[in-house]
Amino acid sequence: MFKTSAMSNVACSPATNQPAVWDHHHFGNVQTTEICYFSVTSRCVNEEKGCPRLHAKHHYHWQISENFENWVNLPRLQVEALETAFCFPAETRIILPPFLKTGTAPVNVVERVMSHKMWIADFEQMSLESPESACVFHLRRLCTEKNHETITKSSNFQWFFCDANSNWVEYGKHDTCGNFVCNPSINSSQIEQHFLSMPHLPLTYQMSQNTYVIDFKCMQQTNNRTGFQRKIRRRPEYDCSLLHFHTLGTDDTMNLGDLTSVIKFLSMQKTNASENAILPQSVNGDSFFSREFPSIWEPMHLKERVCRVKLSPSSREFKAVVNYLKQYFSPKLEQVERIQHPFLWQALKNKIIDMMRIYDDLNKVNIQWLFHGTTFNAVDSIIKDNFDWRLHGTRVGQIYGRGTYFTSDACMAYNYCTSDFAGCKYLFLARVAVGTITAGNPHMVRPPLNPNTGQMFDSTGTDTVIVKYDKQEYYPEYLITFS
Ligand SMILES: [Zn+2]
Repeated sequence: MFKTSAMSNVACSPATNQPAVWDHHHFGNVQTTEICYFSVTSRCVNEEKGCPRLHAKHHYHWQISENFENWVNLPRLQVEALETAFCFPAETRIILPPFLKTGTAPVNVVERVMSHKMWIADFEQMSLESPESACVFHLRRLCTEKNHETITKSSNFQWFFCDANSNWVEYGKHDTCGNFVCNPSINSSQIEQHFLSMPHLPLTYQMSQNTYVIDFKCMQQTNNRTGFQRKIRRRPEYDCSLLHFHTLGTDDTMNLGDLTSVIKFLSMQKTNASENAILPQSVNGDSFFSREFPSIWEPMHLKERVCRVKLSPSSREFKAVVNYLKQYFSPKLEQVERIQHPFLWQALKNKIIDMMRIYDDLNKVNIQWLFHGTTFNAVDSIIKDNFDWRLHGTRVGQIYGRGTYFTSDACMAYNYCTSDFAGCKYLFLARVAVGTITAGNPHMVRPPLNPNTGQMFDSTGTDTVIVKYDKQEYYPEYLITFS
């Protein structure tokens, strides 16, 4: 897709006595697909006469190619978005930030080819594609050379497996099902060592009378006795000093914020795909895309699965939750906590992006703030694993279907709360992608087919009671405690 005429007079392969190739150059072909450590930290002595590695400002970089031969450097904004997502093992696909800033004209081939299209990076296929283009690019990541004494986080790879809760757990750590691995037979760095020296040979290890085989070709682990297979992933360590993942100190009010940005962006991209779309400032680039999670979130360590943040009663966020609640009723409020669960958040976000592709209309995705009252002993489990009536039981009659119940009526939800020993009750305020609704019945285990769209309805229920069947379609965002 990059025209040969556009690149014919550009030196695109490293030759001796040619200056080093830099990450800001158009082409990024290098003999050794690594970043030169010295180019990042100080100055490489081979700068002038040529270095086999890519010279870069950071220890990581991303490139694309049509044919695996001519590799083109991606701009910084896209590199940051890719790197941020890639460090999280649960991430498989992300939408890249737009390639052109508002009101600017393309200055190079990349901008010309990539502008005005939505590009989706796939980390499993290592590809970049667009629903608006037939072209598929190969994607590759470069990081600092491994043989140097100082290992950078960007080139320190960790190995993860997918546990029974669909969470990605690093080898050697306990999983989220409560199965502690006290004496890990194998850890991340042992797998990495094997992978680097013998990537074509499977790795076999023993654990409690089972033999497991890790196959690097299909990235799977097989239990030899049972034949059970798990997906595995290899991802670099997250370097929070390089990436500004969480934007702190903002005074955001409670709104759909980041999610709305991506939805607006998607719909505008679709509407204006063939025109020179001018995106509003707030969705043009670094607001949503350089940030995976809401800007109001407290920073979390990569290994931290979930965290509860008690809101200050003087914060705008606290007041927004209370005001929302007070539209309905006002029992004595003890506290409001924000639930920060990156994995569940991403799941909802992915689902909404997916629904946007189907409906092409934010109003039809129909995101709502809804309440869910619960027994006190289900609170921790909900925060950890989201609402799931099969795990937490149900105290509603399930007259609209066998799923998880939400309501816009706080009083109704409050009636399903039970007190703990201190007399406190707990109510969740969830963000729910309601989508299309149809009447349900007590036997329904999933929504029926919508004859108008050929797709299943997204929810069953009424205007005030919503039943959801897919855990990806809701997020337990606030926990409200009443005394
Ligand atoms: Zn160098």
